[in-house]
Amino acid sequence: MNGLSERIRIVLVGTTHPGNIGSAARAMKVMGLGRLYLVAPEAPFPSSRATALATSGDDVLQEAVVVDTLLDAIEGCGLVLGTSARQRSLPLPLLDPRAAAARGVAEAPSHDVALVFGREKSGLNNEETRLCHYLVNIPTSEEYHSLNLAQAVQVLAYELHLALRADTPGEIEPPDWRPEPPERLEIYFERLAATLQAIGFLNPNQPKRLMQRLRRLYLRARPDENELNILNGILSATQSAARGRTERNGD
Ligand code: SAH
Repeated sequence: MNGLSERIRIVLVGTTHPGNIGSAARAMKVMGLGRLYLVAPEAPFPSSRATALATSGDDVLQEAVVVDTLLDAIEGCGLVLGTSARQRSLPLPLLDPRAAAARGVAEAPSHDVALVFGREKSGLNNEETRLCHYLVNIPTSEEYHSLNLAQAVQVLAYELHLALRADTPGEIEPPDWRPEPPERLEIYFERLAATLQAIGFLNPNQPKRLMQRLRRLYLRARPDENELNILNGILSATQSAARGRTERNGD
């Protein structure tokens, strides 16, 4: 692994077949990637089947990090790319594998990047998809869109390898921009929902898609620490203004 590839995590969510975990490790190893995260694997892990299929990628398996939730796996990441065989009802910005790899490698000098893969049967659920900044779709035939999980990892790992080998990874502007990681954004989203309820803008009985749309807006902007502090400050001021109004009404 070179320095930049260490910034790139491959995250497998809820994998059912141990063979797919092993084959994904092999796919990573041949392309010079080493950081594998397993979110609540359904497959027994470690397993002899995974080890057999990993072949020389066995060290990738040994160093794999097993966590309970996707949020744990993407902790600290400034860019989260979710792969999907299909577009979602509330579409996210979509990249093809080449564009996704170029973006990942361009951003890796400044922050960790995660590429997230879903379950064999059902892919990523809505809650997981909502944590992603972009969706990545591997173009396929019109008739059948769904690759085997480890093969999908291979396609993306190959594109990352090509992008890592290119001697001039693209610059990302502005250079001092460090997007806040998902765990900090999640705290903000909870405060935002509570504040919007407190001022009567969000009706908890009829939330429609307001929070989903707002999440998408903020994930598109990817605020940095200063910007998120300002947004949190606005929520604090809104809450105290709303409290003042309630108190005055109560007089
Ligand atoms: N029926 C599931 C398919 C899951 S395939 C669905 O509709 O989502 C298992 C995983 O492999 C997917 O979650 C995704 O991570 C990856 N994958 C399979 N085909 C893909 C494609 N065409 N583009 C991007 N990722 C794909």
